[in-house]
Amino acid sequence: MSYSQGHPIRLVGGRLALDFVNTADWTSGDEIAHEKLTNVADLEHWLRALSLEHTEPVTDLAGLIDFRYMLRQLVLKRTGNDVLNIVQSLDFSAADPGVSLPFDQSIAALIAASAVSILSDKREQERIKMCPGDNCGWLFVDETKNGRRTWCSMESCGNRAKAARHYARTRDKRA
Ligand SMILES: [Zn+2]
Repeated sequence: MSYSQGHPIRLVGGRLALDFVNTADWTSGDEIAHEKLTNVADLEHWLRALSLEHTEPVTDLAGLIDFRYMLRQLVLKRTGNDVLNIVQSLDFSAADPGVSLPFDQSIAALIAASAVSILSDKREQERIKMCPGDNCGWLFVDETKNGRRTWCSMESCGNRAKAARHYARTRDKRA
């Protein structure tokens, strides 16, 4: 397992675009509760965890973080066409023949392609869920047969909710 600033990198979204928006924890008001990409090294750890090895430096982390916010909103609204608009608005002016894309843009394009493939497929769209854990807000594709997956992962939010329910029950009994 890879670690970023001591936090394990958990890939639970099932799709690249969802794992990318899960590089922050989100409040119920769509604010960032906890940022995992605090610097370029964090992003590089994350890319390595996905086996997206690269040699070029990332230069525009802030741009990728803005892109992440837009992408999350689009996935929540299930608007596939807007993802295409964002991809079109990415500045590929440096992409002369024979000159490779700036690495940030290649990554953004790769992630956008993943988002488009989710949002252009009705079955995929319908299976996108948001973890209801406190200050989590992670997105994932529910690939269980009965569509009963609730949590990003049982080890984190699922167990926390179970512990909270247990605490509430024992507290009620004592009262
Ligand atoms: Zn969660």
